[in-house]
Amino acid sequence: MIDVVRLPDPDAAWRDQLRRGVRTVDALEAAIHLTESEREGALRAIAGGFPMAITPYYLSLADRDDPRCPIRLQCVPRREEGEASPGDMEDPLGEEDPRHAVAPDLVCRYPDRALLLVTDRCSVYCRFCTRSRMVGSDGGARSLDGLEPAMKWLEANPQVEEVIVSGGDPLTLSDERIGAVLSRLRRIRSIGVVRVATRTPVTLPMRITDALCRTLARFHPIWVMTHFNHPAECTDEAMAACERLADHGMPVMNQAVLLSGVNSCACVLEKLFRRLVRSRVKPYYLLQCDPVSGTGHLRTRTDVGLRIVEALQGRLSGIAMPRLILDAPGGEGKVPLSPDFVVSRSPDELVVRTWRGVDVAYPERRTEELRPRTCACGS
Ligand SMILES: *Cc1c(COP(=O)(O)O)cnc(C)c1O
Repeated sequence: MIDVVRLPDPDAAWRDQLRRGVRTVDALEAAIHLTESEREGALRAIAGGFPMAITPYYLSLADRDDPRCPIRLQCVPRREEGEASPGDMEDPLGEEDPRHAVAPDLVCRYPDRALLLVTDRCSVYCRFCTRSRMVGSDGGARSLDGLEPAMKWLEANPQVEEVIVSGGDPLTLSDERIGAVLSRLRRIRSIGVVRVATRTPVTLPMRITDALCRTLARFHPIWVMTHFNHPAECTDEAMAACERLADHGMPVMNQAVLLSGVNSCACVLEKLFRRLVRSRVKPYYLLQCDPVSGTGHLRTRTDVGLRIVEALQGRLSGIAMPRLILDAPGGEGKVPLSPDFVVSRSPDELVVRTWRGVDVAYPERRTEELRPRTCACGS
């Protein structure tokens, strides 16, 4: 008789997490002691609009008893989601503005890069989501046929050299589907770089299988953008997922969102950024939370972020230091916010304040600037 060796299906673990996603008050209650605010928030989310879903893995990181737990604050809805705050918008980045929605599921607001939304599903719905207006409720994974108008637009617009594959979370799709989307994009000769934006290393790390990494690596250069917000998310499993991506040649970049009471302190973010760099993840952006309806309770004032990056400047290695970014309401583009280290300017010198608080003068060049011989722009 022949022994049949049954290999475990590497996709079984993540598919099981999606299937067992927490979507009811009962399931939530089995894992944590709900506050009245959370119960009300969950009921509201279940009733319609912006849904709730949490992988058992991500919920297992939550504190059963403390409602201020950074995991809970990110994934468990609260009463405050129903409260409006001044300046709230449904679509703060103007993604549905016809000036930016250049084709179905394709947003272009920069000259050289575009955002392709391949699904509206995520493994966990983050309560501060900038696309809460559409995620979880807008038709699920896009078919290749459905994406064809976007592909045609990219073919007709060769100035776009970079495509950000996002959603929803593109890595909730099967390897085959992801491979098919990337393969179609690679047939567009003008596209050099493809970014895959995913929170699965944080919320569903078992999704980052060797087979998925090999699929992605067939379409290099692929950059992976992920989204850790708090050191409690940096489990061995999550960091191993990031390292697997890096082992397959993908630079992994992190975009954290500043969230009030979650990571709104330099000491918390310092720990996060140091941990990420150890697993070869580059802290890329620290994003001011977008003014999305229902997120007022999670947003910080802009001076909080400025004080944090000022405190971390010099204290943290340059490779561990992200840029602080505000995405301008209306979809006008990202703007870096920076603490001012310049004390004074004159034609002779620039006086700067160093991270230690010492003022230092830098002597300015007095003679005419030279233009690089290879400069073609003449600016
Ligand atoms: C954020 C974003 C990008 C990428 O911006 P980078 O600063 O290059 O990271 C591109 N397109 C859209 C529509 C975006 O929202």
